[in-house]
Amino acid sequence: MREQDPKDRINNFNEVPYGYDEDEAVTEALRCLQCKNPPCVKGCPAEIDIPRFIKAIRERRFSQANEIIRETNNLPAVCGRVCPQEDQCERLCVLKNKGKAINIGNLERFAADWELKNSFSREDLVQSNKIVRNEKIAVIGSGPAGLTCAADLAKKGYQVTLFEALHKPGGVLTYGIPEFRLPKDIVMEEVKKITSLGVDIKYNYVIGKIKTIEKLRDQGYRAFFIATGAGLPYFMGIPGENFNGVYSANEFLTRVNLMKAYKFPEYDTPITVGENVAVVGAGNVAMDSARCALRLGAQKVSIIYRRTENEMPARKDEIDHAREEGVEFHLLTNPVEIIGDNQGQVKKIVCIKNKLGKLDSSGRPRPVAIEDSQFEMAVDTVIIAVGNGSNPLLLDTINGLNLTSKKNIYADDSGRTNIEDIFAGGDIVTGSATVIAAMGAGKRAAKAIDKFLK
Ligand code: FAD
Ligand code: SF4
Repeated sequence: MREQDPKDRINNFNEVPYGYDEDEAVTEALRCLQCKNPPCVKGCPAEIDIPRFIKAIRERRFSQANEIIRETNNLPAVCGRVCPQEDQCERLCVLKNKGKAINIGNLERFAADWELKNSFSREDLVQSNKIVRNEKIAVIGSGPAGLTCAADLAKKGYQVTLFEALHKPGGVLTYGIPEFRLPKDIVMEEVKKITSLGVDIKYNYVIGKIKTIEKLRDQGYRAFFIATGAGLPYFMGIPGENFNGVYSANEFLTRVNLMKAYKFPEYDTPITVGENVAVVGAGNVAMDSARCALRLGAQKVSIIYRRTENEMPARKDEIDHAREEGVEFHLLTNPVEIIGDNQGQVKKIVCIKNKLGKLDSSGRPRPVAIEDSQFEMAVDTVIIAVGNGSNPLLLDTINGLNLTSKKNIYADDSGRTNIEDIFAGGDIVTGSATVIAAMGAGKRAAKAIDKFLK
């Protein structure tokens, strides 16, 4: 897929890949073998009928292609952009071993974008769905898990209210993933489709603070889906993490994406990024932070990661994009201290070098510190992207809810918790995972809630 030149794109927040035009999409779709027993479908957690939507594209029935995807996926323009297709549908495509897998994600993105551009009008948004059931359901959190569950329940005719703590919907899609990977207009258009099904979203509404689940029960809500994500940032617990210039990736990305600090002063929220930025971690969150820092004017951005490239959790595309843009990678390296000046401003990060040891419980080789390998790097900003946990705010207000040792909600595969009318799914159950996994959990919970209420 054509994309912005790295030299240009580090100066703007516009989307990096341009997306297929119609002819490019048809050309790619024509490569598909239309397998009788398509392995690609088995790799899609949303169970999209992949050959059927690709066939529609090759026959230029673009709107129908989108409809086929939407039969099972409520957020196709999002999934086409951020799903790890290389580990899912495309990994199983029969053409992978014969050259190059079909670009299923890019075709999905094309079909969804085509529909948003060509057949989207305000009129379409007049409620397209009939609310036929009396039961009220509360969905808490409007990330991919909550949006999917709410949409599927509304399609089944329930009255669904979605409570969201922030002033915008989308969860990580809005506050975490940057504009140049997932434009926010696209997310808002997808959300409009969901509200057009009759889902009512209440913003700035922190459940656990403004109202508890018990209060909502008193108001007649008959079932609850908790999809509050994993928004509590972890720190490393090393000296110096409280100096000025040290951000959690959460704060950094929320300022940039949700509050649009990259457009300051047009938007109110400022952000300070120095010339020399270190980002600790190597997941998607770390790559997004590093690439945002470059676009905000940093001269040098370094990823510091304790293992090797083979173990990096980020999508390969994101690692490649970061490297093309000039992000430096310091692998087998672990910070042990952050040093500041007498004004409390970060000046240096002290690291040690690692080697790989035996496999640990995650199945990856354990990083082992090399003796006397300590060294310092001059930095003026440090962004910590070493993972997130669950926010206790809501969970502390629900008596008797079973939690795991990591303080995630204990729920079965269908989202049922130990409390009959409370269901849960997405990152609040699994810990940080993927958009499609959260959507899958939302879908399964919608089925389970329907069964429970019937
Ligand atoms: P979230 O998306 O976290 O949404 C939870 C929502 O609940 C939030 O809007 C929050 O404000 C709201 N909330 C929390 N508490 C309350 C409360 N008490 N009351 C009301 N509302 C509340 N995955 C991919 O597949 N591909 C990627 O490329 C990718 N990149 C990522 C980049 C970043 C920077 C991050 C942080 C994650 C990324 N992920 C990616 C992971 C993916 O985004 C998450 O797994 C997914 O968003 C989880 O969805 P969720 O619905 O469970 O929670
Ligand atoms: Fe087409 Fe590949 Fe799926 Fe076969 S496995 S139907 S070639 S996308």
